[in-house]
Order: sequence, then structure tokens, then C-alpha cells
Amino acid sequence: MCLDPGHGGADPGAVLKSRYEKDDVLRLACALKPLLEAQGLGVVLTRDSDAALPIAERCRIANEAGCAYFLSLHRDAADPSARGVGLWVHSGADWPTVQKAQDILTELLAVTPVRDRGVRKGTPQNCRDFGVNTGTVMASALLELGFLTNEEDNALFDRYLPQYAEAAARGLCRTVGIAYRAPAAGDAPRDPAWETVRAALDELAAALENARRRLGV
Ligand SMILES: [Zn+2]
Repeated sequence: MCLDPGHGGADPGAVLKSRYEKDDVLRLACALKPLLEAQGLGVVLTRDSDAALPIAERCRIANEAGCAYFLSLHRDAADPSARGVGLWVHSGADWPTVQKAQDILTELLAVTPVRDRGVRKGTPQNCRDFGVNTGTVMASALLELGFLTNEEDNALFDRYLPQYAEAAARGLCRTVGIAYRAPAAGDAPRDPAWETVRAALDELAAALENARRRLGV
């Protein structure tokens, strides 16, 4: 699993006063990573600090790590009235890739009512055929979690960040075929042997998914 917090360094992404997209998406990535790891999933972050990172490097990291799924984390920008949550997949995305993005979106929309902007395919014409989607070899999507240019979306982001992270974790678990297990208070530490079995099962599920995709079935 690869999480890609967008922008970084000299590239702030969307800006509203002193609020930068690059910071919001890093917060989201840092909240999301431990939730996925608690499910036994290996997580690769393309960046874990305020560092500039070319698109090609983000793709290389995910491709070389052999990640089963790639999610680029962003917040949208437009005129101040624009709101909502949506995901972009690449122009040639197959149905399973669209469905995986839809699974993530469905979970996020369950957190709080916000405009559903859908799962959309980029095209060269709409400039939304994002390099992180076209340059990665696994199923991928680019998430726009609300508009940073809208104060109400920002208030939702700040208030519900833990819930958004958990919702994204649920959706991401579905992308690799595992059931999300909510951490229970006072959960007993899990047997290390089980962790080993769980990791092996996850790897097997990812390998099966890769094989299935290559065969186009
Ligand atoms: Zn962005």
C-alpha cells in the first residue's frame, strides 16, 4: 500500500491564507498510516516530511516497492463556493480500479454529508490524467478530500480528520481484499505468530490481485 501526500517543499499545493494543502495531506497520511499498519498492511509513504518530490519519483517509490494499491492524497481548489469529495483515476482505468476508488469514496462520504463529486476518469483534455495515476503500475487513485478553498470543507477536515482517516483505511482495506477490523479499546496485544501469518496472507491476496489484473479477469 502506498500513500502519497501531494505537493511538499516549495510546492504548497492549494493555499488559503496560512493554510497549505501540502500540510493537510501530510496530516492525513500520518493519521492513516498507523491505522493501516494496525490491520497488518505494509505502508509506504512517498514523503513523511515537508519535502519536494517530483511526480516520477513518487511513482518510482510505489512501483519499486511493489505496492498493491496507490493513493495520492490531495485537497481541491476552485472558487470559494466549490465543495465536496471526489477521486480521480487515470483515463485508461479498468472497472476494478474505478470500483476500488468508489469503495474509498463511499466510506469517506459516510463520515459526514458533503457533496459527492464522484469517481472520475482523467482525460488529456481535462488535464486530470494525473501523472501519479498514469505512472504507477498498480491500481491507483488521486483523492481530493474537500476543497481547501472552502472554509466549511476546511472545518469538516479539521473536525473529522480521525474519522476521515479511519474511513479511508476501511476503503483501502477493501482495495486489497481484507476486512477492516476496528481496534477495540483494551485490545489484547496480538500474537506475533499471527502477525506473521496475517502479513503472509496479505501478500498472497496482493499477488492474487496482481495476477488477476494481468490476466484481465
Ligand atoms: Zn493537490
